Amino acid sequence: MDFSTLTDIYQELEKTRSRLEMTSIVADFLRDVPGDELQQTLLFLMGKIFPAWSERELGIGGKLVIRAISKVSGAKEGDVEDRIRETGDIGLAAESLLVRKAQTTLFSEKLTTRRVYNNMERLADLTGKGSQEKKISYIEELLSFAEPVEARYVVRLILEELRLGVGEGIVGDAIAQAFNVDSKLVEHSYSLCSDLGEVAQIAKQEGNTGLEKVTIKTGRPVEVMLAQKIGGIKEVLEKFGKAAFEIKYDGARIQIHKDYNRMELYTRRLENVTKQFPEIVREARENIKAKSAIIEGELVAIKSVEDRHPRPFQDLSRRIKRRYNIPEMVKNIPVEINLFDILYYEGESRIGYGFMDRRGLLERIVDQTDSFRLADQLITDDIKKAEVFYKKALSLGHEGVMAKNPDAPYQPGSRVGYMYKIKPIMETLDLVIVGATWGEGRRAHWLGSYLLAVYDPDTGEFLDIGRMATGFTDEQLREMTELLRDDITEEVGTGVKLKPKVVVEAAFEEIQKSPTYSSGYALRFPRLVRVRHDKGPEDADTPHRVEELRKGAAA
Ligand code: AMP
Repeated sequence: MDFSTLTDIYQELEKTRSRLEMTSIVADFLRDVPGDELQQTLLFLMGKIFPAWSERELGIGGKLVIRAISKVSGAKEGDVEDRIRETGDIGLAAESLLVRKAQTTLFSEKLTTRRVYNNMERLADLTGKGSQEKKISYIEELLSFAEPVEARYVVRLILEELRLGVGEGIVGDAIAQAFNVDSKLVEHSYSLCSDLGEVAQIAKQEGNTGLEKVTIKTGRPVEVMLAQKIGGIKEVLEKFGKAAFEIKYDGARIQIHKDYNRMELYTRRLENVTKQFPEIVREARENIKAKSAIIEGELVAIKSVEDRHPRPFQDLSRRIKRRYNIPEMVKNIPVEINLFDILYYEGESRIGYGFMDRRGLLERIVDQTDSFRLADQLITDDIKKAEVFYKKALSLGHEGVMAKNPDAPYQPGSRVGYMYKIKPIMETLDLVIVGATWGEGRRAHWLGSYLLAVYDPDTGEFLDIGRMATGFTDEQLREMTELLRDDITEEVGTGVKLKPKVVVEAAFEEIQKSPTYSSGYALRFPRLVRVRHDKGPEDADTPHRVEELRKGAAA
């Protein structure tokens, strides 16, 4: 296809912001694109050169493009920079500077989309010494074939700055419109194969019947099933009866694709990160007992294999982004993967099977090691056991737990309510201490187990909401006791009542409705963030705010 055909469409698309119009422009265009060019054309329309899951990446900076424009147009690099400032866009700058060239070279070859793609491929494959000059020469070659208006878009494509607003949603709808197929089916097929080009080709040649047959395969990341929020463990058990609770590891979700000796790792955004994690590739190769499989897990940066304490997410992020000196990264930031699902096994999709079947298969085919392991799991209908599991997860430094429906299939790309996340609410409440209890033994002279209350501005009452009992150091207990001792108004057994004076900021896991406390709510696992010396009791949070937070968490 001539690149000018695509350029015409770019210009048409640039004139509108309406989603409907864009969809029909793309649809009309797609009908005439030859089948074997659909994939590349669709990527170009979205301003991409390679699909996210490709290992290829362009990574060309503005400087190189400026040098190429300067060489082809004869303008000095400084002049190119001035023109970029004047036009506000490097594409427009290239276009206007190449007008001169267009008048002098009359009989040049026409630029085709294939040629643009081939040069981009070469650009991506160039690495190492002397590659800069070679890169410039490939860009130069494209620009010298380009008409001025084509140069505008070539430059924007190279820099991945097309920004026409044509994304997967519009392209999906356009495929449905162009080839008269069901848009839901297009969406579904895409969630399985992550390849709009392939979906378009099948839609064009085989229609709905073809799309229904699309299934997952190795080498193409599957869109992941997403989790929903829920109030807490109780709600999960009410919904599922029995649930599979798993630690919610705080890392990056990774799909491992194994096809005989070929291994690929993809992120949840479908990016290929195989090169970044050679140790995981090795472990997967050695420990997945299958010829082909797609397995999912959470990759976590850890202190060390001996001390599996999770490191902050930023550390993992550094490893995901790093493209060079990988062995050094492997040494400095160790990782482990916690596997939790299997989507494909020995040439067949497994997503239609129930979760317990999938987990069972995973257990059978994975030889676990210290850093290639299955996610810790507890299957129970017992709220107490689930709570112990949850607390343990938090105390080990994890984010919370996932609760999964044991019988549910895997639904790529959707938030269907088969999997919930339960983690502490990040908001805190400022609460007044209205009571406490004298400790026992060594702690007999210290006040602990603080009764917390909200302030109701309508009645002027302090309404209790929970007890903050654990997680204090001796030092903190001593300080709190000093702070509260003078406010004791009444003592009953080891319990004391306190004049509402000291305000603390408390974090907690969950807010529940509860008849136990006078506020009508109960905080689960409240813990001290800090004493709010700057707040008086009337500045404490109100029942209204508690209700808002509770509703927010359940949303
Ligand atoms: P969120 O990103 O907060 O919506 O939480 C869902 C994410 O938690 C998933 O996409 C995974 O990346 C991650 N996760 C951590 N541990 C697990 C687990 N055991 N099962 C499923 N997802 C998990």
